[in-house]
Amino acid sequence: MDMQAQPSIPTPPNEAERLQALRAYMLLDTQAEADFDLLAELAAVLCGTPYAFIALVDADRVWFKSSIGVRVIQANRQEDYCSWAILEPEGLNIPDLTLDPRTAQLPATLSEPRYRMYSGANLVSSGGHRLGTLCVLDVLPRQLSEGQIRLLSRLAGQVVALMELRVRDAQLERALAEMSRLAHEDVLTSLFNRRALMQALEREINVARRNGSALSLLMLDLDHFKQINDRHGHPVGDAVLQSTAGLIQASLRQVDIAGRIGGEEFAVLLPGTLHEGALHVAEQLRKRLASFAFQDASGLSFQVTASFGVSTFNASLTDAGALLAAADRALYKAKQAGRNRVEG
Ligand code: GH3
Ligand code: MG
Ligand code: MG
Repeated sequence: MDMQAQPSIPTPPNEAERLQALRAYMLLDTQAEADFDLLAELAAVLCGTPYAFIALVDADRVWFKSSIGVRVIQANRQEDYCSWAILEPEGLNIPDLTLDPRTAQLPATLSEPRYRMYSGANLVSSGGHRLGTLCVLDVLPRQLSEGQIRLLSRLAGQVVALMELRVRDAQLERALAEMSRLAHEDVLTSLFNRRALMQALEREINVARRNGSALSLLMLDLDHFKQINDRHGHPVGDAVLQSTAGLIQASLRQVDIAGRIGGEEFAVLLPGTLHEGALHVAEQLRKRLASFAFQDASGLSFQVTASFGVSTFNASLTDAGALLAAADRALYKAKQAGRNRVEG
């Protein structure tokens, strides 16, 4: 028996960048996927081999996105044929693994299922890095035809195309989530904007209808806000709106939804809350706001108050319009009655 040592497998010269490119695909350690399995299976059928793999050569391991014929998750990089393949611009074709010094002593050659043939086409990233292979293996020594080798390489191109598609899908999903966030957010306060709050109101009304659960709506409008702008300047006015939003957020439960529905007008949805409870929430918030020390540009503190209107889902207030109108009427009443108070 030949006892000569297995040569250690070199890393490509641009290994750090190569690994960075590989990681950018975010494919390592992900679940198996039918689309990748299909490409691996096509490779096995094309080459008439019992085994095919989509292999990614990571820092210390070769990780398999797809495996046909035998279930493997990963292998030691120093013991895997693919680590040799990515060193070759044209991939690697070894008709008899027992005769090639690079592979003769590898465990996969020496132990079950005793692979004899390996053919790996490189998975080349858009930046030109060899990330791994689409490879086929057999337990019989044999030479693939030129046509098979060429098509295997084309299939490897399809694997990379699929990898790129997955990246673009993920980017698109993130962009959509970000756009959706921006579409729902009030830029100044990060609360919901008017449109998002109206959507949430419709949704919560449907929940209340379906479950027979309670739902209250609280509206508040800052008192004499125009004077605050006039006296302290618009930027301080903006800061007041932001602090008010912070105070509102801090007074709410997880399920409550707060939005800025106009210049200095806010609304809060209180799911599961009856009228008495909503009046109480409003009163707490009113007191908290009235006692808060806002600061002007020179650091002097001043007070801001707000008027509140509360309405609650019930037999006669069964849709969003009616609920909003009732809260608005109550708010108007609070203004008329002298401001800095809650009506409902
Ligand atoms: P009332 O007590 O009756 O509510 O009086 P008010 O002055 O608060 O009400 P009014 O509707 O007369 O004025 C609202 C002011 O809010 C006028 C507008 O310039 C100001 N405003 C609206 N949006 C913003 C904003 O985004 N930033 C700032 N700084 N001011 C705003
Ligand atoms: Mg106002
Ligand atoms: Mg107003």
